[in-house]
Amino acid sequence: MIVILKHEARQEQIDRLREFFAKMGLGIHMSEGENATIMGLIGDTSRVDADLIATLDAVDAVRRIQEPYKQANRKFHPDDSVIDCGAGVKLGGGAFQLIAGPCSVESEEQIVAVAKAVKAAGASLLRGGAFKPRTSPYAFQGLHEEGLRLLKVARQETGMPIVTEIMDAAHLPLFEDVDVIQVGARNMQNFELLKELGHIRKPILLKRGLANTISELLMSAEYIMAGGNEDIILCERGIRTFETATRNTLDLAAVPVLHEKTHLPVVIDPSHATGVNRLVRPMALAAAACGADGLMIEVHNDPKHALCDGAQSLTPEEFAEVAKQVLAVRAVITA
Ligand code: PEP
Ligand code: MN
Repeated sequence: MIVILKHEARQEQIDRLREFFAKMGLGIHMSEGENATIMGLIGDTSRVDADLIATLDAVDAVRRIQEPYKQANRKFHPDDSVIDCGAGVKLGGGAFQLIAGPCSVESEEQIVAVAKAVKAAGASLLRGGAFKPRTSPYAFQGLHEEGLRLLKVARQETGMPIVTEIMDAAHLPLFEDVDVIQVGARNMQNFELLKELGHIRKPILLKRGLANTISELLMSAEYIMAGGNEDIILCERGIRTFETATRNTLDLAAVPVLHEKTHLPVVIDPSHATGVNRLVRPMALAAAACGADGLMIEVHNDPKHALCDGAQSLTPEEFAEVAKQVLAVRAVITA
């Protein structure tokens, strides 16, 4: 981190700053130029509040030269992380996977039928919500423990690992037999939940918050990694902008940007990003083209009667078509 001092900074102010940083265990490198005096801070500056330092009288500007995330940072871990999702399914580092299934688990018949259909179409992981974060308290909230049980029945029937969302750390014992735990957009900055997930040894699919930056997403991944759990899959699912034609605005540039900044794999969810069934295919293809490590797509056997997110759900037939085209795009970009 670099602290640029004001021209008129007094020596006693500079000394106080030096003392302040020294007390934080940081080394200081002073460079006195003709136009500006610059303090270079040496050591782990992740605990330094740059915004606070910038408000001090003697300080003109503060620049971070090292990102505040370490474990998620590609600089310290140049190779792509490959996440083992169970049953031999690997995601990342060239291993591309389709995660598909309904928004919510509704019945055994529904989840098993969708699981079989998406597997036949090329999906390797089954998604399905049992605990649903709904905007309205009167909307279907998920089948909870029964939903988790039905997901396991579908896993038994198909061999596909299951991905499902956790909303409360107190529910962790219920998720012991889940293969990949999803943290939804609304909980991306539920730091107590993230800390708890750092203490388990299970892959986490971390979705980007509705109004969060890429750097905040990486800091949330860092929360989990700081606890010792390094198996994280990042998911871009659209962010909230002024645009209303789509449910959210899909930030596809997040894929190459994240690939530059982190070694963690990046998955795109075109379903929540657009909210519209017919927009899922073009965005899925675009996501594959820009290098996503996987896609998470909502599929329902009867979208018109889905208890949640029917408007954005594909039928199994539509999913099969999208999967075929996505794999064709993958073949082109990896050729
Ligand atoms: C979901 O995947 O079902 C979900 C609720 O997604 P998000 O957290 O991205 O809204
Ligand atoms: Mn949904």
